Order: sequence, then C-alpha cells, then structure tokens
Amino acid sequence: MLADLHAHTWFSDGTLSPQALLERAASRGLTHLAITDHDTTAAFERIDPDWIAPGLQLLPGVEISTLWERQEIHIVGLGIDCANETLQTLLRAQQQLRRERAAAMDIRLQKAGICGLMYYLATLPCQAVGRNHVAQFLLDRGIARNKEHAFKHFLGDRGKYAASAHWCGIDAAVRAIRAAGGIAILAHPNRYRISNPALRRLVSEFAIAGGEGLEVSYSNLDADRLDHLASLCLANDLWASTGSDFHAPGNHWMDLGKFRLLPARCADRAIWLHPGWPACQREVKRMSLSDA
Ligand code: AMP
Ligand code: MN
Ligand code: MN
Ligand code: MN
Repeated sequence: MLADLHAHTWFSDGTLSPQALLERAASRGLTHLAITDHDTTAAFERIDPDWIAPGLQLLPGVEISTLWERQEIHIVGLGIDCANETLQTLLRAQQQLRRERAAAMDIRLQKAGICGLMYYLATLPCQAVGRNHVAQFLLDRGIARNKEHAFKHFLGDRGKYAASAHWCGIDAAVRAIRAAGGIAILAHPNRYRISNPALRRLVSEFAIAGGEGLEVSYSNLDADRLDHLASLCLANDLWASTGSDFHAPGNHWMDLGKFRLLPARCADRAIWLHPGWPACQREVKRMSLSDA
C-alpha cells in the first residue's frame, strides 16, 4: 500500500497533465493516487480510464483554500463526486476570487512597470490561477531569482505585489466536501504560521465542523513533527492521511510517494480504513467523443 492522496496537475499549479501524473504515479509504485488540484476538479473531466495503470486506484479530490483567523488554511476533499452542484458552486466562487486576486496583483505589478501577467496566465491550461503561476512569471521575467525568493519578497503575506482573497470559511469547505460525498482532510498542518495552541484550536474546530482527517505524513517532515501530528490526529479522533503535495518533477524532496510511513500507533486510524473509503474509490468515466 502506497497511497499518495495529495497531488496537483496543470489544471491548478502543478506542471504535469493528468496523463503524465498518472504515468509518474505508476512508475513510482503508488497503489492509490488522489488528484487534489486547488479549487478545481477540471482534471477529472479529462481522464481516460485507459491512462490508469492496473494496480493503481485513482481517487477524485480537491484542495480548497479557506480563511481561518485570517490565516490561509487548505482543506483536501477526498473521494468527492465531482458532479455535485453544492461543491461546484463553491469552487466556481473560489476560482472567481483567484481571478480577482490575480488582477489585483497585475495592477500592483503594472504600477511597478511590469506588464503582461494576465496575458501570461491566459496561455496556461489552469482553471485556478495561483501565486505559483505569478512566481513563475516573475522568474521568467528575471525579477525573482527562484520560487522561494518570489514568495518571500513579492507574493507572501507582506510581499510587494501580494493581494489577498476572501476565501470561504472552513465550515463552508467541509460542508461542500461532505455534500459531495467526500472526506474532508486538514492539509499539511505544520506549514501554517500559527502557534501550537492555535494549531490545536484549528484542528478541534475543523473536527467540530465535520472534518474527519488530518494529513499526518507529507513531504519534508522530520520524525519529531510526524510524531507530533500523529498525536494531534489521535487526540481529535481523526483519520490519518498521507500525501506528497506533488507539483512538479525536479523537486526531489517533493515527489510522488515520497513521505514517511504512518507511525505504528496510527495504523488502525489510517484513512484507507475509514468506513467511507470504498465509496471514495469512484469509477472514472470514459470521456465521450464530444468531450474530447
Ligand atoms: P495560492 O493557492 O495561490 O494561494 O498559492 C499557494 C501555493 O503556492 C501552494 O500550494 C504552493 O504550491 C505554493 N507556495 C506557497 N508558498 C511557497 C513557497 N514559499 N515557495 C514555493 N511555493 C510556494
Ligand atoms: Mn500549490
Ligand atoms: Mn496546500
Ligand atoms: Mn497542495
């Protein structure tokens, strides 16, 4: 069992097509892959079941940006029905917020004499524009030295060209995921810049809102932090999830399937033992010719 339940395609800020991501998943020996693009399920409208290697189970997913105490918190939905109207209504609103945020960043960039962001974004296949795309634009223009530099100086909280978005609340994201028959998971809990007491409060409020899982193991997590997240998961009676948050090849510490195994004490709380897990493994429908 090697379940990578957090990965991106070029329909959000990943660089691979769904087909290339599925090929990479098979070559890296995954048994389960969830595609969890930011605020869009567009990838699932373009997947041919023939692209899924025997022995690999694909789960439909999404990663929703939310605001909690003015912090941006990411919630992954696993095993969702992508046709669900409640979910898609929320995702359309989030995509609109993303377009508005990009336009606000474009205005800031133009004032600094940097033109062309919106043209650049229009050339991409993505349905959910994000800061990663803006970072790439700044890199291509020679304005940022690398992605880290772009986020630190230009796009992060106090960045020169940063713009904020009023994302939905945790409750709304969890409600939409559940309405679509999915399981809501709190993504990468220690990547938020909040104190330990605030993190405990976040996890407990997430559970009260109907959230059921915590990402316990993901890329670049040391053994102590993994242990801490396992405790947080068990203390809140949540299910433990695993996922790399893969975006692009070439980032050796964030590749598909590259994360620590769940600690033994989480073994009977692994997300694949959740009673709703079998229903999460939804069949991928063949595209009709008119969809292609
Ligand atoms: P957004 O969804 O537009 O708010 O952008 C968040 C995304 O930006 C994350 O999912 C990451 O892919 C990327 N990101 C955030 N911070 C950094 C960073 N410091 N360096 C590189 N990528 C980052
Ligand atoms: Mn991302
Ligand atoms: Mn995230
Ligand atoms: Mn992600």
